[in-house]
Amino acid sequence: MSQTVSPSIASPQTQQVLDVELRQVSKYFGGEAAIQDIDLKIREGEFFSILGPSGCGKTTTLRLIAGFEQPSAGMVLIQGRDMSRTPAHRRSVNTVFQSYALFNHMTVKDNIAFGLRVKRMGRSQREQRVADALQLVKMGSFAHRYPQQLSGGQKQRVALARALVNRPAVMLLDEPLGALDLKLRKQMQVELTNLHQQLGITFVMVTHDQEEALSLSNRIAVMKDGDIEQIGTPSEIYDYPQTPFVADFIGETNLLQGEVEFADSQMLRLLTPEGTTVLVNRSEANLPDLKTAVVSVRPENIRLSQEAPLNEGNCYSGYVKHIMYLGTHLHCVVQLQTGERLTVMQPNRSEQSLTPETPVYVSWLPSDCLALAA
Ligand code: ATP
Repeated sequence: MSQTVSPSIASPQTQQVLDVELRQVSKYFGGEAAIQDIDLKIREGEFFSILGPSGCGKTTTLRLIAGFEQPSAGMVLIQGRDMSRTPAHRRSVNTVFQSYALFNHMTVKDNIAFGLRVKRMGRSQREQRVADALQLVKMGSFAHRYPQQLSGGQKQRVALARALVNRPAVMLLDEPLGALDLKLRKQMQVELTNLHQQLGITFVMVTHDQEEALSLSNRIAVMKDGDIEQIGTPSEIYDYPQTPFVADFIGETNLLQGEVEFADSQMLRLLTPEGTTVLVNRSEANLPDLKTAVVSVRPENIRLSQEAPLNEGNCYSGYVKHIMYLGTHLHCVVQLQTGERLTVMQPNRSEQSLTPETPVYVSWLPSDCLALAA
């Protein structure tokens, strides 16, 4: 299969080598759109995650790249080549599924060798490839076991080896750690990162776990209702969400919606229906154009004190409604005098004696919150 880039369809951004590109891709099932007009560019060597709530179209997007589904409209390109006539088994991608999809009647070694046998690779080369793949996932001593004799984490390693043995340009991972318990999941996250760095190939992972996406990825696409809301690095997505949905979905945040009382290019003043005034001087939208806005303030950016604070930012009085001890931190819900509730994350300091009903002040700087178009 030729790997040359057809000049007619190559990306105009020639500095970036793209491994996967979706151009205006839609997929309908029985008249219902699973994804609509999606544009996506995944660079060579990236760890790219597709993140979003259940049913938003993540798996459909991955299956279109894999070739298990055909787009209803638009074009999927892999390494610059239009894939509309290339079946799944001839694409330079391999998929790892949450369910592992191993053959139970075959040993670990035969499961991994299966794809190479189908390609009729010679025995000695095949054995070498399988041994290399087993070593990569640290499963060399399990070669002769059957899948039912393995733990969940070990099965997932075999599934990874079975995909890697084909030396794909792109690894597609569909909730690869979804079936593992939390501890094993954390361990496998580290192993996935190591594998990605060692191999230098492109990883495209579907997940609904935002912490997993933030910790593993170079870039993330956040999806909602079959559309992409935002693409960015983990810190761009977390610190500069472009929509209230992204702000709320990634991490925890407080969203205050209201009318814009005043706005210039530097500062915005918002009045909520409850009568709370909020000052903001960071925005993802053009501040003077906003009539209504949503202000996002992260729980960790809110300071909580029992004395009135001295800063001139946003400061409100209220009382502690709920409090949860998380060891290093306290997770508090504060009921403001005006009626709104805010979630606050506080370092757990011994001098504080917070209990439900404790009167408190909450405050944050105008630079510690973000105005978004409502
Ligand atoms: P989850 O996290 O729950 O796996 P997802 O984001 O991966 O969800 P998809 O599996 O891509 O979502 O599904 C997107 C939408 O398309 C859903 O409404 C789903 O019901 C629908 N859908 C997906 N596959 C099919 C199919 N083969 N036939 C009909 N509808 C489908």
